[in-house]
Amino acid sequence: MNAGHHHDPKLSRNQGQILSALRKAKEPLSAYAILDRVRVAGISHPPTVYRALNELIQLGMVHRLQSRSAFVACDHGACNGKAAFAICRECEKVVEISLSDKDERVLLALSPKDIAPEHVTLEIAGLCEACHPAKRGLRPIPNRRR
Ligand SMILES: [Zn+2]
Ligand SMILES: [Zn+2]
Repeated sequence: MNAGHHHDPKLSRNQGQILSALRKAKEPLSAYAILDRVRVAGISHPPTVYRALNELIQLGMVHRLQSRSAFVACDHGACNGKAAFAICRECEKVVEISLSDKDERVLLALSPKDIAPEHVTLEIAGLCEACHPAKRGLRPIPNRRR
């Protein structure tokens, strides 16, 4: 699929509003956070948001982060959804990691015999460069947790 940001398939107005809210956001958004941001555009019903989100997910333009019931715009404009995510636990920056068919097969193969694997979700938590203490410069780190 075309990954260009300027050549989106014909999106409905609602889909377009929701996609642009997600693209502007610096962190994953819950459905209600999305609703808050598209209210100014006249979208005010949760079912409308959920429906447009599901359609965008089908198109591969939005992905759902299972671990936080939140949504992110695809890093590539759109993809086949075979992706893992690395998430900074401090600032919630999300980086999409494309999985190859082989990656996916290897992960699915971890399933024990009594569960026939169908789908795998992989989310890696950590600290991004900006949030990593070693990269914060020379001043002492405030709020250090021990
Ligand atoms: Zn993607
Ligand atoms: Zn961070």
